[in-house]
Amino acid sequence: MSIKKVTPHPSQNEALIFERSQTGRVGYRLPKLDVEETNLDEILPAELRRTDDLEGVPEVSEVDVIRHFTRISTWNYSIDLGMYPLGSCTMKYNSRLNEKVARTAGLVDLHPLAPAEEAQGALELIYRLQEDLAEITGLPGVSLQPAAGAQGEMTGVLLIRAFLDKRDGEASHERRVMLIPDSAHGTNPASAALAGFTVKTIHSTAEGLTDLDHLRQLCAEGGVAGLMLTNPNTVGIFEKNIREICEIVHEAGGLVYMDGANMNALVGVARPGDMGVDVIHLNLHKTFSTPHGGGGPGCGPCCCSAALEPFLPVPRVVRDGDTFRLDADRPDSIGRVKAFYGNFGMMIRAFAYILTHGAEGLREATETAVLNARYLAHKLEDDFDKPFHSDCMHEVVFSHKKQAATGVHTLDIAKRLIDYGFHPMTIYFPLIVEGAMLIEPTESVGRADLDAFVEAMKDINREAETDPELVIGAPHSTRIGRLDEAAAARKPILRWKPDQDTLTKTA
Ligand SMILES: *Cc1c(COP(=O)(O)O)cnc(C)c1O
Repeated sequence: MSIKKVTPHPSQNEALIFERSQTGRVGYRLPKLDVEETNLDEILPAELRRTDDLEGVPEVSEVDVIRHFTRISTWNYSIDLGMYPLGSCTMKYNSRLNEKVARTAGLVDLHPLAPAEEAQGALELIYRLQEDLAEITGLPGVSLQPAAGAQGEMTGVLLIRAFLDKRDGEASHERRVMLIPDSAHGTNPASAALAGFTVKTIHSTAEGLTDLDHLRQLCAEGGVAGLMLTNPNTVGIFEKNIREICEIVHEAGGLVYMDGANMNALVGVARPGDMGVDVIHLNLHKTFSTPHGGGGPGCGPCCCSAALEPFLPVPRVVRDGDTFRLDADRPDSIGRVKAFYGNFGMMIRAFAYILTHGAEGLREATETAVLNARYLAHKLEDDFDKPFHSDCMHEVVFSHKKQAATGVHTLDIAKRLIDYGFHPMTIYFPLIVEGAMLIEPTESVGRADLDAFVEAMKDINREAETDPELVIGAPHSTRIGRLDEAAAARKPILRWKPDQDTLTKTA
């Protein structure tokens, strides 16, 4: 099967709004003036007024505007259109209800400097969400301040540092090594380095798990402040030795940080605190219903053990009987990490998500997410190389090993998926798998969509054998074909400049 090029239809060929402009076209009509006309000269000094004729501002009708924006909206893929199998991102569909709740007038219009007595509802919401997250993680100290997973990580490792400084005094300066597996997300070593630690990398085993012997060896070298571990890890496998891992690190005098970006595989089923983890971050914008993408805003709560709680950022939301207040009087705190108390809108969505699901519903969502990933793992393992054999959790990793024989690589497979109507999966991450394709369907995909995705992947595999050029040249069905992504990122053209011709034509 090969895709025939046709003349682009209007919605694929939409011009810029400026190029649609025609002198004199308007899309509005103002009512007759019912007050006396003011003389502008009396209120606005001449030097502050424009003298040109707003040249270049598009002159368009209402239908021009509606069609323009509707057409360009179809160039983008969205979660409302179909599944978004980006592994490690947990791109699930978020219920409109949580959006509605987040727009509740009394919450959305609240000024961040409102005194505590006028913000009791908001403070209670924060307090109760923290209690729920403490219950979900098994870690009692929670701060919702961090605005992203990466900031939650940095907050967490700063807690470890403050704890060690208090515990060991001067001697803690000798304890500045953070151990991080080679499969980790790049933010882990970055956060550790920002917090003043040096990073030592732990190898993974052929099974895709943390190498315990290497962990013991690194701990024996001394100076270990802690371990940063993602669980399930970034190849989607649960670190079944997690208790032993925590014991090894604790015996060496260090603390265990868990990267909780993959909590969608655990919520309601297992608690990191019960496994021996000391501190974790969550991504409300992955697991707890905040729309994800486009650069934010996000929320990366930091949850910790009672021993680390005194070091959490100020202010803390505390409860005195039936009232709530912000407490900044915490002498051991690492200080503030975010203005006010973080991104409150995300907290409302997460609270609504937790309340509408209930404990049973949260568990069911987790089980469905894992079942969906295992279904894909099972259906695709004959067509694609699956580097690790253990059962996956909420995401599964494949590689391009089989297809590479005909010159088809991960990037080509991802681009070809676009022609089949799917957003590509995460590619070339984690780094320990060559040509990685990390697929996370999430719980918000039904059987029919999973099967359609499986069929698309199987078709692409067949094409890689019989017509590799078709895959290598993909996508064929989009407005713009294969992009030079480096040039698009390094030399983006972000500004439209009217050319002289257009101006004289419309003038
Ligand atoms: C997404 C992710 C992060 C970083 O979270 P941000 O909110 O994007 O800063 C860290 N670790 C893992 C494993 C992730 O998937």
